[in-house]
Amino acid sequence: MKIGTALALCIAVASTGHAQEKVLNLYSARHYQTDEALYTNFTKQTGIKVNRIEAGENELLERIKNEGANSPADVFLTVDAARLAKAEELNLFAPVNSKVLETRIPANLHTKDWYAFSTRARVIVVNKTAVNPADAQNYEDLANPRLKGKVCTRSGSHPYNLSLGAAMVEHHGEQKTEEWAKGVVANFARAPKGGDTDQIKAVAAGECGVAIANSYYVARLMRSEKPADKKVMEAVTVVWPNQKTTGTHINISGGGMLKNAPNKEAAVKFLEYLASDQAQVYFADGNNEWPVVPNVKTQNPALESLGKFKAETINVGALTKNQAVVQKIYDRAGWK
Ligand code: FE
Repeated sequence: MKIGTALALCIAVASTGHAQEKVLNLYSARHYQTDEALYTNFTKQTGIKVNRIEAGENELLERIKNEGANSPADVFLTVDAARLAKAEELNLFAPVNSKVLETRIPANLHTKDWYAFSTRARVIVVNKTAVNPADAQNYEDLANPRLKGKVCTRSGSHPYNLSLGAAMVEHHGEQKTEEWAKGVVANFARAPKGGDTDQIKAVAAGECGVAIANSYYVARLMRSEKPADKKVMEAVTVVWPNQKTTGTHINISGGGMLKNAPNKEAAVKFLEYLASDQAQVYFADGNNEWPVVPNVKTQNPALESLGKFKAETINVGALTKNQAVVQKIYDRAGWK
């Protein structure tokens, strides 16, 4: 081989190696339009290109698991602690050592494996003419016989309700949570069906007196220009549950670095970027959520009009720990 050729080869290898460092492979179960700006801005700041694979969380988890040691995935992003718990259970994450993340993200909003980047609240929606809002101020009230035939929820096996139950276990223990779940089921207006938005609409239509729903669904309806959605929001009132006790149940949207990530440095940079002021606004506001970093302000009229509230302060890790227990409790209670 001539020296010139060898040199050319070296350069080719070096530049390939360099190119590999400048890539981040993101597996994301988030799909909000504003996320586009989020990724473009990261590339602008760091020169790292984001290759994004978007799919449902179960599909992505399955894929990461099957790809095993050869997985190109660096970071997994999803919504709800229950789903992050699944990834944790499958042992897919690698712990991240980052001062930036440690200092910017409150201690109760991360585990050793993953970080929350936005929060959402599980609120109670009340039909003002069917139920006195004073009777539905706490999650516990949903089990009170006063609300017999009034309560609507989505399935008990949905992550949002499992996480709420997991928080109940953390606050009150398993036995009380089971009594509560049985009381809620006894108060059902109908068998669980549909998503949170369907529950809000059923409350507005008077089919249900109260329902539980994530705050961003409420905010989405509040921001909607559709006359039907405006009518829905006129018929209901939104309650921040448990303001005098444990605070409103909070869930999160977040992610972590994967164990087999080929671009670990880029992965940490990306997670740190998501905790920056600017990225926090994009990340949270894209789905009408709240930033996790204290004092970062979004300009979201719906969230602003919902006002301030007292949030639960338990560690999100506790939500993941209690998932299986809660599923069994709900099964016994008949919360299908
Ligand atoms: Fe949702």
